[in-house]
Amino acid sequence: MSVPRPRIGHRPLAEVAGEHYDLVVIGGGITGAGVARHAAQAGLRTLLLEADDFAAGTSSRSTKLIHGGLRYLAMGDIALVREGVRERRHLLAMAPHLVEPRWMLVPAATWGRYLLLRIGIAVYERLGKVGRGDRHRNWQRAELAEGEPLLDSGRLPRACVYREYLTDDARLVLATLRAAAADGAVACNYARVRGIDAGDDGCRLEVLDEATGATHTVSARVAVNAAGPWVESLLPPADGPDPAPRLHLSKGVHLVVDRSRLDVRHMVMMTAADGRPVFAIARGGVTYVGTTDTTHHGGAELWPEVQAADIDYLLATVNDHFRGRPLSSADVLATWAGLRPLIRQPGKNPKEMSRRDEVWRQRSLVTVAGGKLTGFRPMAEAVMAAVGDVVGRHLPMPQPLAPLAGGDIADLAALREAVSGRYQLDPTAAERLVRLYGSEVVDVLGERPVPLTSSMYAEEVAWAADVEGARTLEDVVYRRLRAPWFLPGETPALLEPAADLLAGRLGWSDAERQRQLDAVRRRLADELAFRERA
Ligand code: FAD
Repeated sequence: MSVPRPRIGHRPLAEVAGEHYDLVVIGGGITGAGVARHAAQAGLRTLLLEADDFAAGTSSRSTKLIHGGLRYLAMGDIALVREGVRERRHLLAMAPHLVEPRWMLVPAATWGRYLLLRIGIAVYERLGKVGRGDRHRNWQRAELAEGEPLLDSGRLPRACVYREYLTDDARLVLATLRAAAADGAVACNYARVRGIDAGDDGCRLEVLDEATGATHTVSARVAVNAAGPWVESLLPPADGPDPAPRLHLSKGVHLVVDRSRLDVRHMVMMTAADGRPVFAIARGGVTYVGTTDTTHHGGAELWPEVQAADIDYLLATVNDHFRGRPLSSADVLATWAGLRPLIRQPGKNPKEMSRRDEVWRQRSLVTVAGGKLTGFRPMAEAVMAAVGDVVGRHLPMPQPLAPLAGGDIADLAALREAVSGRYQLDPTAAERLVRLYGSEVVDVLGERPVPLTSSMYAEEVAWAADVEGARTLEDVVYRRLRAPWFLPGETPALLEPAADLLAGRLGWSDAERQRQLDAVRRRLADELAFRERA
């Protein structure tokens, strides 16, 4: 099936605000994107408003796992286990370029832990109806020494290796939003909702255009508040006494090192000193390690601070599992932090809180909170059930599953070969481009792409601005090209030429171009500022 090449973020708010919508979605993370797509597929006139850039919040800061749901088994949440396995199958079918089956290795120090793991994984695979090719393997010391040579197999002599799927969270959001746009949804970034007046017959939203400073009113039959960690800041005052807070924000930090410093062959699930899982995941030339899980004090913010203690915790966990020269903070090339919007469970600490979602309704406003990247489609389905109650119509999940933007791929390996041959690229470079753009890779690169660095091209910057709604240099480098975290060595060289290209396309003055460069350079420096906070 061929997918049209829809655009997002290209229509000015002043133009779209004048129209009436069936549904306005607030928040352009994965939750909002999933709802917008489902609504547009169901034939609703849909507008999505994002205060910053698409995926600027939690949905670009995750570990990027499409969890099969093994950890939910330990929490006794069988429904979530089943949902995880089902969803990853669906997502792989809809976006094979964005969902990559990988092997997750879980080492065990003792026989007892190893046996527990084996039993847990076998039960999980049975409950989730995991297919034969995806079933786990059990490894002893000899297999471990060969299969994951850096692991300290003296201390960790056994392991289970099972299937987990890996994605690119921000690009999953973009692909979902563009699929929504293909079905008629409009998505605006830099459109901040400042007030919601939700009545029984419809709602009116006050929206600030962050680009012009103008305020507009948008009206719709229903609004969906999908603002992630910001959900509560948008709720209208309660009719009765102030309700207790519903969300608990938990901070999660990741760090990035050069692959040569931690060359893992599998995704590795380590166990930190406090018993939490911490993952080491290789991607291209880097390995990233995460995450922490600590209560975030204060309100929601886009760039939560990375502390030296967060980095120490992650480094200690790695050094406890791998041999060779220990990693130190000097090895850290980049970091990111995000906030989990967890549903509050009084008396529990963040790691014990369920990752479930909740949907509730106040007149024509439907609010959704909690959840996981992995479950964004079932979350959208639950939201649409509540929207259906408002509009008086059943809005089922559309079938069959249509591909996301770039997802109409018959054979990923063949596409990679073709891209490698056509542009004379090594397998790593071809892999990067195919994973980012899927079936659209040739549309992005054209005939003779112009390199800006050894891996990134001028055409990618143009595509980000023209098709994917990037409005700032940060939008391009962080959430479109994913450079600072996955190509940190090439990022400094990308900035000037990318800023030049964007200045031409987006009409920036010299002063604006410089402001954009300064902002990204500050952001890059902030990622490593934990060293000064030590
Ligand atoms: P967000 O992505 O934060 O989106 C909300 C959006 O609303 C933001 O873009 C924000 O700018 C916008 N907004 C806020 N206020 C307004 C306003 N007034 N007007 C308009 N827009 C507004 N899940 C997994 O499945 N697998 C993982 O491996 C995984 N790892 C994780 C690791 C970490 C460290 C964290 C923090 C989370 C992880 N998660 C994972 C969970 C997952 O990332 C989140 O559940 C998901 O991204 C939340 O998406 P969201 O759309 O609800 O929120």
